[in-house]
Amino acid sequence: MKEHNSTVLLYYYFVKIDDPEHLASQQRFLCQKHGLKGRILIANEGINGTIAGSVEGIQAYQTAMRSDSRFESMEFKISHHERMPFPKLMVKIRPEIVTLGANMPLDTAQEGGTHLSPAEWKRMIEEDKDVVLFDTRNRYESDIGKFKDAICPNTENFRDLPDALSNYEQYKDKKFLMYCTGGIRCEKATVLFKKAGFKNVFQLQGGIVNYWKEEGHSHWEGDCFVFDERMYLKPPGTVEEVTSIGRCVHSNQPTSHFINCLHDQCHKLILVHPDLIEEDSLNQICPTCREKGFNLETAIYPGSPAQQAKKTPKTRKNRLSRKRSINNEPNPNPETSQSH
Ligand SMILES: [Zn+2]
Repeated sequence: MKEHNSTVLLYYYFVKIDDPEHLASQQRFLCQKHGLKGRILIANEGINGTIAGSVEGIQAYQTAMRSDSRFESMEFKISHHERMPFPKLMVKIRPEIVTLGANMPLDTAQEGGTHLSPAEWKRMIEEDKDVVLFDTRNRYESDIGKFKDAICPNTENFRDLPDALSNYEQYKDKKFLMYCTGGIRCEKATVLFKKAGFKNVFQLQGGIVNYWKEEGHSHWEGDCFVFDERMYLKPPGTVEEVTSIGRCVHSNQPTSHFINCLHDQCHKLILVHPDLIEEDSLNQICPTCREKGFNLETAIYPGSPAQQAKKTPKTRKNRLSRKRSINNEPNPNPETSQSH
């Protein structure tokens, strides 16, 4: 496989899976056969994948999937990357294919919002005065790009959305237009909002990725965060004219360059302009941690002076905080990353 030219496939499908274990082993075999890497989540409610490989490998995968009657009407989104964005293949069985943790059954097929094609979405924004745009993604995702005037919840994880919902009650009677990267999160989020009494809930079919493909970047500002090594995409064909709306946490310069705070116990995803990291390694530590007095000597990170000095036996508290940081970590490690 040519590693410098990778085809990336994004898909999800809500359909009843009776035997997730069996499907998982089929998927591992299929991906290995065609040299594909990435992440596939399987649950009783369906399948959700982001995988990459050669053009031929990806085509063979799509053909195989479509020959399975459960997935014959599945939609695939394709993008390209100069090299393989995933270090390995990971096929996992989970309780949900995108984790909202709403603690109630959500029937995405029956109870979701009205799907709008990108053209319908654009028309509604332009012609309807009563619309509210709502970004179902996380805080750091909308930091670098969003639909203009969209409401962006200050959530670090999709699982935080049920708790944030009460902040938006005043929009219950508006035409409530919800969007995310590839559409999967809105499949669940629209059900949640409708159950909470929102009357006119719509969702962008295929998400931002599909909108860009069909309608370009009108009404959009900035870039689009993605959960792999690429970190973000720029609207196609518009690289030069679209400026980043993200701001460096230290210098306020425009940037879409994310790093995780160097201090392991924080590990928050922050925007830092690459020039500042080159200038001073201390800029890898977030402002909050710096205020708390952490610097390159005192922060905990692999090989740091503080970690070397500590080397204490693992306490329960340390293990828990480490675990929490791994679970929340929105960096492009596919082991921990969230969904499209
Ligand atoms: Zn920090």
